[in-house]
Amino acid sequence: MKVLLVFVLISLAALASARKPFAVRYDNFKVYRAFVEDSEQLEEFKKIHHHLQVHILHEIGGPNRSYDVIVGPLFQRAFEQVLHDLQVAYDIIVEDLQALLDESEVDEEAPMDWETYHPLDVIYDWVDEQCDQHDYLECNVIGHSYEGRPIKSVKLSKREGNKAIVIEGNIHAMEWISSATVTYLLNQLINSEDEEMQRLSEEFDWIVMPMVNPDGFVYTHDVERLWRKNRRPNGYSNSSGPCYGIDMNRNFDYHWSGAGWGIEDPCDHWFGGDEPNSEREIVALQEFVNSFEDGYIRAYLAFHAYGQYVLLPYGHTNTEFPPNYDQMMRIAAAFADGAEDAFGSVFTYGASGLLNYVVSGAAKDWAYGVKGIPFTCTVELRDKGTFGFFLPSNQITEVGVEVTEGLKSLVAKAADEGIFD
Ligand SMILES: [Zn+2]
Repeated sequence: MKVLLVFVLISLAALASARKPFAVRYDNFKVYRAFVEDSEQLEEFKKIHHHLQVHILHEIGGPNRSYDVIVGPLFQRAFEQVLHDLQVAYDIIVEDLQALLDESEVDEEAPMDWETYHPLDVIYDWVDEQCDQHDYLECNVIGHSYEGRPIKSVKLSKREGNKAIVIEGNIHAMEWISSATVTYLLNQLINSEDEEMQRLSEEFDWIVMPMVNPDGFVYTHDVERLWRKNRRPNGYSNSSGPCYGIDMNRNFDYHWSGAGWGIEDPCDHWFGGDEPNSEREIVALQEFVNSFEDGYIRAYLAFHAYGQYVLLPYGHTNTEFPPNYDQMMRIAAAFADGAEDAFGSVFTYGASGLLNYVVSGAAKDWAYGVKGIPFTCTVELRDKGTFGFFLPSNQITEVGVEVTEGLKSLVAKAADEGIFD
C-alpha cells in the first residue's frame, strides 16, 4: 500500500475531519473478501495494487484462501471489474469502514478500562500506577522507539525461584486488541480475586511488554488507523516520497531470509528490513530478554490480531518442525480448549509456516530457535474476519476473559508437560 494512498487520504482528511484534523478517514470505503482459488488467479490478484489504490490486508500466502481488501469509493467499480475478469468470487464484508471505526471511537480522556480502546498515555499511566501500588512489580523502560518513546516492561514476581512467562503486546501498530488484551491479563494477574489467577501470579513470574511499537501505535491513533510497522524512515522512497517503517515481527534474527510476499518492498506493510535486528525496538526487546539467565523464561506468548490462531514455530519452513512440536501442539490445544469454553470462540493451532504462510523474522521463532524457550507462540486474537483488524471495543472484555481462560489451561498443561521443570 501505497504510501501514495496515505498521502492522498491525509490531504483529503485534513478537509474532512474536525476532531482530528490530520487523521485519515475511510468514509464509504468498503472491505471486500476475495476468494482466490488457483495460482493463476493469485498471480494476477497480487498485482492489483500496482494499478489500483487498494489495501490488501493479508500477506499473500497461496491460492485457495480468501483475502480482505479495503477499497475506496473511487476504485470500487474498477476493483469489482478486475475481480470479475479474473473470475475471483467476492463478498463485501464491510459497506462503510468509517462507520465501523466510529463504533470504537477513542475517548482520549477516558480512564483505563477494558470497555474501550485507549491512547498510549492512558495505557502507560495505568502501567505506572500499578507499578507504584505493588512492591512485587518491577517496572522498567527497556529502550526507546525511533521517535523516542519509552518501551515499558512490567515484571511480576512474588516468589523466589519461579520460572517466567513472557507476554508481548502490540508489535503491530493497528492491532489494538493486542495491548488491550495484554493489559487485561496483567490486570487479572495483579488484581483478580479468582483463586486460579492468584495461584498463577504466585507460582510464576510474568514479564509483560504491553507495547513494543509505541510510535506505530500513536500513529494509528493520530493519523492512519491501519498502520502496521514502526515509523522509522527506512531509507527508500517511491513516487510519493520517503517510505516509513519496518514490520518488526519480520525483523528478528532466526533463519531470517526475506521470504514472504511484500517483505522485500520497502514501501509495503510487510517490509522486514534490509537485515535482521535493524530496529531499535527489536534490539531493546532482545537485550531485555537476554538480560535474564538461561532457562528462566519457559514460555513466550506474542499477542496479535486476527484469525483466532495459536501459531507455533517454525515460520520459515513448512517442512521442518521443532523437536518438541507435538508437545507444543498439546499445550496449544489446551489454550484452545480453555478459550473455547468461555464463549465458544474456536482457535486453530499449528506451525505458522503450515497454517499461515512461510515467512521469517517473527518473535516466537527467535524466542524458540535462538533463546531456546521451550514453548513459544503467536496468539492471533478475535475474530475470524467479521470485523478483522477493526474489532469493536465492546468485545475487548470478552476477548480478555477467553484469553484468561485459555492461559490458565495453557499453563496447567505446560506444567504437566514439564515445561517449567
Ligand atoms: Zn500482528
